[in-house]
Amino acid sequence: MDHQDFFIEKLMAGIKEASLLEEDELYNLANQIYVYYAGEDFLGLVTWSNRLRTSGANIRYNRSQQNAHIQVNRSYVEKFGKTELIEILKHELTHYYLYKRKKWKHGHGPEFVKTLKEIFKSDCVAAKYNEEIYRYHYYCQTCHGVYKSTKRIYRKIFCAKCVKNDQGKMKDQYQMKIRDSDTISRK
Ligand SMILES: [Zn+2]
Ligand SMILES: [Zn+2]
Repeated sequence: MDHQDFFIEKLMAGIKEASLLEEDELYNLANQIYVYYAGEDFLGLVTWSNRLRTSGANIRYNRSQQNAHIQVNRSYVEKFGKTELIEILKHELTHYYLYKRKKWKHGHGPEFVKTLKEIFKSDCVAAKYNEEIYRYHYYCQTCHGVYKSTKRIYRKIFCAKCVKNDQGKMKDQYQMKIRDSDTISRK
């Protein structure tokens, strides 16, 4: 076990129920991660959000005070637990790290991916961690194509590809069926 694994294990052991952490505990968690990987304090705030829908967290910068505010999607953490909480904090802290280095508009480009991997030892790039919040997965019975949705869809939906290939005919066999999210294994 290397030093980093040991650090993460210790963090994990300190968390009973991730989604029930107080906000100062959330901040402490983020700060410990930042100090460990970046060697400096994380200046700012970490709070829960019940409003984020399709992402695990987000970050806003306060340029005048040189700090940042990370919001964490509580339902996401309820669903995926503390491993994922640590991963999404690493993700947001990578944004912060680049922001502190005056790289305002880095997005999720190569520099972001590199920093996330090399400094924070994570590969939790947005698309990957957002994906799971699209918890309703629909499958085409014919071509097995997948459509992911953040909401449950109550009307009939058809596979666009199969319908198109069949001159727009909406046959029953092109109807997409839901697969229960709980059967989808975590990475
Ligand atoms: Zn991001
Ligand atoms: Zn299809």
